[in-house]
Amino acid sequence: MSSHVRIAVVGAGPAGIYASDLLVKSDVNIEVDLYEKMPAPFGLIRYGVAPDHPRIKGIVRSLHRVLENEKIELIGNVEVGKHITVEKMREFYDAIVFSTGATADRDLDIPGMDLEGTHGAGEFVGFYDGNPNFRRDWDLDAEKVAVIGVGNVGLDIARILAKTADELHVTEIPDNVYESLNASRIKEVHIFGRRGPAQVKFTPQELKELDYSENIEVIVDPEDIDYDAASETARREKKAVDQVCQILEGYAMREPKNAPHKIYIHLFHSPVEVLGSDGRVVGLKTERTELDGNGGVTGTGEFHTWDVQQVYRAVGYRPEGVRDVPFDHHASVIPNDGGHVLNDVNGTPVPGLYTTGWIKRGPVGLIGNTKSDAKDTITMLLDDYRAQKLTPAPKRTRKDVAAFFEESDHPITTWAGWHRLDDAERAAGEAEGRERKKIVEWDDMLKYSGPQDITE
Ligand SMILES: Cc1cc2nc3c(=O)[nH]c(=O)nc-3n(C[C@H](O)[C@H](O)[C@H](O)COP(=O)(O)OP(=O)(O)OC[C@H]3O[C@@H](n4cnc5c(N)ncnc54)[C@H](O)[C@@H]3O)c2cc1C
Repeated sequence: MSSHVRIAVVGAGPAGIYASDLLVKSDVNIEVDLYEKMPAPFGLIRYGVAPDHPRIKGIVRSLHRVLENEKIELIGNVEVGKHITVEKMREFYDAIVFSTGATADRDLDIPGMDLEGTHGAGEFVGFYDGNPNFRRDWDLDAEKVAVIGVGNVGLDIARILAKTADELHVTEIPDNVYESLNASRIKEVHIFGRRGPAQVKFTPQELKELDYSENIEVIVDPEDIDYDAASETARREKKAVDQVCQILEGYAMREPKNAPHKIYIHLFHSPVEVLGSDGRVVGLKTERTELDGNGGVTGTGEFHTWDVQQVYRAVGYRPEGVRDVPFDHHASVIPNDGGHVLNDVNGTPVPGLYTTGWIKRGPVGLIGNTKSDAKDTITMLLDDYRAQKLTPAPKRTRKDVAAFFEESDHPITTWAGWHRLDDAERAAGEAEGRERKKIVEWDDMLKYSGPQDITE
């Protein structure tokens, strides 16, 4: 066996960082090169978690400590499959772990989703979280908007749309986001879910805090509180389900608060069509549903039309494949057996390729879930190493990798570069009495975080 193992981890979101940590802390002598296509690390913590969730964004602090380890080298601004092929990487690494997460929005197949004024949740998240791959201006010239989907991303969208720009100014939002939010005319946000209180995917904390702003009132119609036998069982068996039901019941029963912005949560309403006029959204049509006894719902044939001028679909994210890596287009994951990548034609394990995080198991679950997930994958990888199932790569030093990028003339960003970008964002925030102000544009980020020498 070689004296040290060289492993590439692709994707510097929480899954990739936890996986890197486990690798370098194992009893095997391992060096990790952590590839990231954005100029900055941290995946959806930087470009997904809402800016008014500083506690969650703060997870970055513990990930920072992981990346300070010299056995981990961050190679940012490099999209694997585009700037370096998997075949080329096999020359440098004994194994590759894919943790490429998800950024695209899942589609919602109802008529009218192509009208002007319909948006994917991920597009709006990309805008307010300052992701340079998304547009920089957002028209909020609507008084009433619909959010389709009853998960935490739907709550994020609704909350950001309903809060005032000044409430969000204390966060890291960039100036252009503040300006768009400040011009917003939105008064009502209507969230729609086709099933009932015991079936929604909200987590209790996120649902409860929806109401913390004095500018926001959350309203639930008491008629939308209903349970069948399966719902009651779910409440008994899962504490979080029961807590969510209780919070929704609380919203349905309390006295009006008369806050200027309202968030309505409509349950048992299945969106069937986005209504348009002159190519623009003018409404949403839903069908009333009812529980079928098993926790599912059936349509009642009773339709409602809602006066809304924008529709956001928050029905889930969709991972995308990496070139030359097996991909299951139906499940939108890298096919795998407990983290070992499987050939997408014959289902056999592909030697030396592993996967973890959202790209391994689909885009569900919180940041904490990616930790246990990484443990399963890395345990398997280490077992394979001990069983001598990994083929040692022919070129085994960081200099080999550095030489490749020097030759390809593609600018890379580094961990030292992230520190410079981090300092610049903090300084920009401090000048306005905030902790951080995000730098958005790709070139502006590169100005601080690269291009630098890979061996710095
Ligand atoms: C809008 C939103 C809000 C959320 N809010 C919360 C929250 O408040 N609390 C919570 O616990 N969880 C939250 N989550 C869930 C959390 O973000 C995920 O559980 C977690 O980010 C998944 O981690 P991951 O590393 O698998 O994927 P990601 O975080 O997506 O990281 C994947 C990384 O891989 C990179 N990458 C992709 N392709 C390539 C390539 N070809 N080459 C190189 N790099 C590549 C990406 O740029 C990205 O940095 C939220 C998710 C979303 C979508």
